[in-house]
Amino acid sequence: MSGSKEVNDIKKVITTGPTVAGLIKPSTENLIEPKSTMKDEYSYERCTHCGYCRHVCKVYNTSWSETDYAGGRNRIIKALDRKDIKFDKEKIIPSVFRCMLCGNCKIVCPVGVDTLSVFQNFRKEVVRRGAVPEKLKILRNAIIQNNNPFLEQHSDRFNWCDTCEEGKEAYERAKLNLDNLSSADLEKGEVETPQVGYFVGCTSSYRNKELVSATSQVLDKLGIKFIVFPEERCCGSVLFRTGLEDDALELVKHNYSMIRKSGVKDVVFSCSGCFSTFTLEYTRLANRKLEFDLYHLTQYTLKVVKEKGLKIRYTKRSKDNPLLVTYHDPCHLGRYCDVYEEPRELLRMIEGIKLFEMKHNKEMAWCCGAGGGVKALYGEIAGEIGRDRLTETRSCMVRIREDRLKEAIETNAEVLVSSCVFCKNNLYQVANEDNSPIKVLDISQILLDCEFY
Ligand code: SF4
Ligand code: SF4
Repeated sequence: MSGSKEVNDIKKVITTGPTVAGLIKPSTENLIEPKSTMKDEYSYERCTHCGYCRHVCKVYNTSWSETDYAGGRNRIIKALDRKDIKFDKEKIIPSVFRCMLCGNCKIVCPVGVDTLSVFQNFRKEVVRRGAVPEKLKILRNAIIQNNNPFLEQHSDRFNWCDTCEEGKEAYERAKLNLDNLSSADLEKGEVETPQVGYFVGCTSSYRNKELVSATSQVLDKLGIKFIVFPEERCCGSVLFRTGLEDDALELVKHNYSMIRKSGVKDVVFSCSGCFSTFTLEYTRLANRKLEFDLYHLTQYTLKVVKEKGLKIRYTKRSKDNPLLVTYHDPCHLGRYCDVYEEPRELLRMIEGIKLFEMKHNKEMAWCCGAGGGVKALYGEIAGEIGRDRLTETRSCMVRIREDRLKEAIETNAEVLVSSCVFCKNNLYQVANEDNSPIKVLDISQILLDCEFY
């Protein structure tokens, strides 16, 4: 039993630590999946508390609290199951809600604990037992009363159309469509219903009008005669993520029948949160039969560009002097819906843009810090986590510059691109507070400055 070979082999087996932790997904190839239909919700029983997911948990790496990472939270769930600890409403709240539901722990868990299902379910259970943070109660009431979480008037949802010609036209087309749908011509088959609808979402409608406007203009540039949904309400994402699924059901029913009634075949989303809520929750509740297709803007743009054989050119730069960007994967688009390649493929095909990867990318990408209600309930944690993501972008930019220097071309461009309004807002806010040289943009804003030809 001597010789270096054995030592090396042993090292290979036991070394799962810092050099690779957080950057690669361990293999779960030999894992035996339990047969129970509740296997995901109850998968916390498989947690060995190995601590592997500590490496990737940005909340744990901010608070250093054992109750904040997945293994610690699973311990609490098991202890509650066994009645080893008392259910104390106030004490339980932080360990339940200080989690972004980013899903990075699920990716690295060697025994296949589906932490997202476990924690979402855990939230449902604690809420059912009366442990609801005060801020969450306000959020819930706002959504129920105004169909948005921002305490804004529902009637103001489409005010952004006042300053966006393409949005206004989409709104008018939608109104006309609604009038036509109630006419007798529909039965005779003489009314043509629009094919594409744009589901805007609350945050973009009320807080990021520039993104809705950019998306509307991009769809228009692609030659798509889309409609918006004048009766659109909050998709319910926040409610699903925070254990308030029962309160979301009315919204689901309303939005679902609204889209069905409009007759559109394709629904496009610029918000990754709305997109994942439709892809996962609406689809689940409709027994996997939605009767219309869902696309994130990046997927839809790529599809149209390919179908029409278009080329894309970023008009603010040239092939020889491209804008250097790095792409931040939103958890809701990446880990939730497996959309990693389309945004990259799209960015790569734009003449005048050059894409570089951050160290943590695709399924191992760090969260921006705003998910799972953390931004609303624990804003200071969201800020810290967003700051880390920006720092990582910064070091990525150093690599970019080095690479560019090799090519002997000078540039000052430093842009972090995302495809979710929450990521954009959280990262933009931190970049602003820190006077960061890095610009944060949504992909719709990049596409807005592109020519499709
Ligand atoms: S959730 Fe998975 S990775 Fe995390 S402690 Fe439990 S077994 Fe380990
Ligand atoms: S989902 Fe994200 S924030 Fe929550 S425990 Fe897992 S890694 Fe941490």
